[in-house]
Amino acid sequence: TQTHTGLIGLGTMGAALALNIAEKGFPIAVWNRTGSVTQAFYDGAGELAARITPADTLETLVQAIVPPRAIILMVPAGQAVDDQLASLTALLGPEDLVIDAGNANFRDTDRRDAEELPFRFMGIGVSGGEEGARNGPAIMAGGSQAAWSQMQDLLQAIAARAEDGTPCADHMGPSGAGHFVKTVHNGIEYADMQMISEVYGMMRDGLAMEAPDIAPVFARWNEGVLQSYLIEISGKVAAATDPLDGGPMLDMIVDAAGQKGTGRWTAVEAQHLAAPVPVIEAAVMARNVSARRDERVAGEARFGQAGGPVDVSLDDLEAAMIAGKILCYAQGFSMMTSAARDFDWALDLPAIARVWRAGCIIRSSMLNDMAQALAEDPARNLILAPFFAGLLEGSLPALRRVVAAGALQGLPLPALSAGLAWFDLMRQARGTANMIQGQRDFFGAHGFGRLDGKDLRHGPWGNGA
Ligand code: NDP
Repeated sequence: TQTHTGLIGLGTMGAALALNIAEKGFPIAVWNRTGSVTQAFYDGAGELAARITPADTLETLVQAIVPPRAIILMVPAGQAVDDQLASLTALLGPEDLVIDAGNANFRDTDRRDAEELPFRFMGIGVSGGEEGARNGPAIMAGGSQAAWSQMQDLLQAIAARAEDGTPCADHMGPSGAGHFVKTVHNGIEYADMQMISEVYGMMRDGLAMEAPDIAPVFARWNEGVLQSYLIEISGKVAAATDPLDGGPMLDMIVDAAGQKGTGRWTAVEAQHLAAPVPVIEAAVMARNVSARRDERVAGEARFGQAGGPVDVSLDDLEAAMIAGKILCYAQGFSMMTSAARDFDWALDLPAIARVWRAGCIIRSSMLNDMAQALAEDPARNLILAPFFAGLLEGSLPALRRVVAAGALQGLPLPALSAGLAWFDLMRQARGTANMIQGQRDFFGAHGFGRLDGKDLRHGPWGNGA
């Protein structure tokens, strides 16, 4: 069959994406570095094989595709992408388009986009794991309008659909904008996961609940405001039993979290942008601490075990999660406002919230309300949108009780408490940085502004001592 589309890299994501593309009616040619993988993929494609052309070399892949070609790269981010782009240089022309669909750092995508490649280039963020790639991921595309127009039909056909039927694939902006939005998505994903693990910790170590008792709590929360994929799977994780010893699977898993670095990129970029994202930063920090298991063991040996009965209810924990989630997303969207300004991108925040409603790991019903609140006024911080301000007023007392109880019993709540501290800064019209400005003027003559607007920029330091 005649095809305009190719895919390189038949690993977990590439294979699933290729089957999804074929299933939606788009013939596709595929190639994998290790040839046996290509053959095994083709042999396992069933009736979709009729729309798939396996290639055993990069050259035959390109020959199998009719110009104008679109070739999707699904290989590990970094050097593998640069290597593939270099190999394609001799084979493709200015009409052809190469799409990096891996988890690239958006700065790499920007750099590649600016390079003198003999073909067109775009970067797209794909979320939803293997299941999403196979049945409908969320897709955040970056690149020229022409490149998006060429790929729009295919990408929207393979994407997840929100409840209202809108495909969860959209054009985020030029060059690295798609991968940037995917990075922020992953930062928020880290934060959502961390906050869930914190309330899990409160149930386990503060309320002495066993995993089988915790599972139905998440299942119940999944019926309410917190309805989301991550709450749903957390209930399933807590419910699963270990096939080897019959106990809760969760209790047997080593408490050291892995990461591929996309959450860290969000925190690093937030610092470059001077955008406050403390919930995401706390989540990255907590993953890093989790990996230092030996140090934690030594810490417990010296300072004793944390935990003990906490005076909070399950309803408090649910409300704390609701507040924490709103605060975290408010920070993430605000970070994208900063990026849009610094990078001169026209990031459409309501469109981003709409793309995240289905297919991706952070999909949730709350994103419907966020899309609506951002559409009302994209420049307003989400905590000030009437719907979310109301939800926060209702849930903040519980967040305070939970954070206070955790602090008193030594149960760590880095993300939830960071969210609360940010909120309290954000509602303090008269902050405390006047002291910092006084100190800065004292040691560095940096000057300050006066509340009364009068013209005295330096303090009379020493005249009160
Ligand atoms: P896998 O490890 O499953 O597959 C990697 C693929 O890339 C294999 O086909 C491999 O070929 C190929 N490959 C590796 N190195 C090279 C190279 N130097 N040149 C050419 N081909 C190479 O990875 P995933 O499918 O999980 O991930 C692919 C991309 O998708 C990554 O950027 C990842 O971050 C991103 N992603 C992954 C998600 C997930 O849930 N797994 C979710 C969203 C994005 P070979 O068989 O020869 O080794």
